[in-house]
Order: sequence, then structure tokens, then C-alpha cells
Amino acid sequence: MINVLVSTTVSQGAVPGDFCWVPEGELVARYGMVCSDERPDGSGCGCGRAFGGLRTHKSTSTAMVVERDMTEAEWRAELHRTLVDTGWAKWTPADELAEWIDELVQLDLRSAAQIPVGTVLGRLAFHEPDGSLHDMFLDRTALMNDQSPRGESNS
Ligand SMILES: [Zn+2]
Repeated sequence: MINVLVSTTVSQGAVPGDFCWVPEGELVARYGMVCSDERPDGSGCGCGRAFGGLRTHKSTSTAMVVERDMTEAEWRAELHRTLVDTGWAKWTPADELAEWIDELVQLDLRSAAQIPVGTVLGRLAFHEPDGSLHDMFLDRTALMNDQSPRGESNS
């Protein structure tokens, strides 16, 4: 069992500009490139706020940490197939691709292992003027809690 990130609609709409095009429960990872339009306040085109689905290759601004009955090797294989299917692999030399997958394992899988199951995450990624990339999780659990009293009913 490993902790992974999956698409969730929980807390969708709590942040202006939220989007979720990935079916609930699909594995997601931060494999998409972040463009230079993204800003530290979260404004921009949205790519820096997106988690990418490993099957549909669509985007969501909300992900949940869940436990899945799979191995790290299986997760890597899913990610590799995504990078092939989306065309990234074709433009990346094999050794760089392997390095990139290692980085993504570090970025998403190793991080998810440290986060309690059920935590809802957003993402904030942007480039500094010098080109270096910041890529962090936003804990949206507080938004979930804030939301419930405002709902009309729990059903
Ligand atoms: Zn962008």
C-alpha cells in the first residue's frame, strides 16, 4: 500500500477559478510543464495550479491523498505511460526521461507518503525571475471544514 494523489471534487469551488476535468479517483501527478505566466499569488493561466490525470491527461486543481494497493514500480509505470501517451517522452532523451521520472517520484510520491490520508491538496507553482521553479502543495483541508457550515444541508 502506498499513498498516492487522486483527483477529487472535495473543496472544488472554495477557491476562485477552481477546475476539475479529471474523473474522481483517477491518479494524478505534477508532470505538466509550468509556463512563465504563473504568479506567486496563484494567478496566471492555471497550469501551475493543475494536477494532471494519468489516464485522461486532463487537469484538476484539487487532489486528495489516498492509500492505494499498488507498488512504487506500478506508479512509475503509470507515469511513464502518461509521458509516452502525452508525447513528452518523444522529446526527451531516455536518460533525461528516467531522471525526470525520478524527480516526479520524489515530488509527488515521497511527499504524499508524509501527508495524512484524506488530506485535500491544491498546488501553487511558479517561476522566479531567475527561472527557478517553486512547486508546492496547498493544504485545502481548512477550506473543506469552512465549507460545511455554509452548506444548505449535508445530504
Ligand atoms: Zn501556464
